[in-house]
Amino acid sequence: MPEIFYEIQDFLMNTNVEQKIVGDNSSDIYNTAMKELHRLESMMSFYKEASEVSLLNRQSGKEVVKLSSEMMLVLQQSEYFSILSENAFNIMLSPLIQLWRSAGKRNELPSDNDIENALYLCNSDNLVICEETAYLKKEGCMIDLGGIGKGFAADVCCNIYKDMGAKSAFINLGGNVKAIGNRADGKQWTVGIQHPDKPRGNCYCAIMCSDLSVVTSGGYERYQEINGVKYHHILDGRTGYPSDTDLKSVTVISKSSTQADALSTAAFVMGLKRGIDLIYASKCVGAIFFTTSNEIYMTKGVNQNLKLLERMKCYEV
Ligand code: ADP
Ligand code: MG
Repeated sequence: MPEIFYEIQDFLMNTNVEQKIVGDNSSDIYNTAMKELHRLESMMSFYKEASEVSLLNRQSGKEVVKLSSEMMLVLQQSEYFSILSENAFNIMLSPLIQLWRSAGKRNELPSDNDIENALYLCNSDNLVICEETAYLKKEGCMIDLGGIGKGFAADVCCNIYKDMGAKSAFINLGGNVKAIGNRADGKQWTVGIQHPDKPRGNCYCAIMCSDLSVVTSGGYERYQEINGVKYHHILDGRTGYPSDTDLKSVTVISKSSTQADALSTAAFVMGLKRGIDLIYASKCVGAIFFTTSNEIYMTKGVNQNLKLLERMKCYEV
């Protein structure tokens, strides 16, 4: 029987999803993965009223909430990456995220007082997780899985591809990429990394990956303008402002897309120096940092997987 190749684009989890699946039953595999993606969206969405995230957020300051074991796993992993990154990664920043969103709509900066009040709710100690339950200590506390959920979903999909016998597969969930095996033509999958200053589709490097995830966080794609100044969507829980970082983007390579997603967000907030320490402490495969002075720093070993597409100052650290 000929091998079937399935390639399809969808819009889900508020982002573009691209899947490529090689295998005899690739359409069944695709359908199963899509069901899982819908299920995960219903679990992790901040906006869907029936999601487990909303359930927990609604009970803030009121009750302990029993959650599914999968949701508990996401919360445990989130807590782990918060601790590892000294809270640069923090799923509790939702009150601040909402504050900045409404500030953008009004075209007016949030007041110091509003930021202070939101920061009080964003402290990660306000989330208490036990084996099967979670509790938000203060009314108004909210979690937001925007910095880790897509990575978790990419891992779930890749487990499905493998369990259902795909020979090889690739998923791009809004910039969270994970690939298993090699492409249909036997070559390694390659992921282009967007140049932060150039129009979409212009890549400054390509990363070869089999059985790896590649995730980029940056301030260049999702931002809002207030009084003509750009404010990006990754926040610093110490200041209450979008992170004032010396990076334009960070790309993390890891076997786990959950890890790559959380670490890329965290490293972006932490900046070059602390970001490098974080990557080495995490024992992921590595990372590539694109600085505001347009230099590239990469952790040891990453250059084996990487092809630069333009001339740039490049350092191994
Ligand atoms: P993207 O979702 O654009 O791929 P990220 O993975 O870096 O980028 O996640 C950014 C999203 O995570 C934001 O839109 C917001 O919902 C949430 N977020 C913002 N700042 C943080 C932070 N410091 N830690 C964890 N999540 C954050
Ligand atoms: Mg992330």
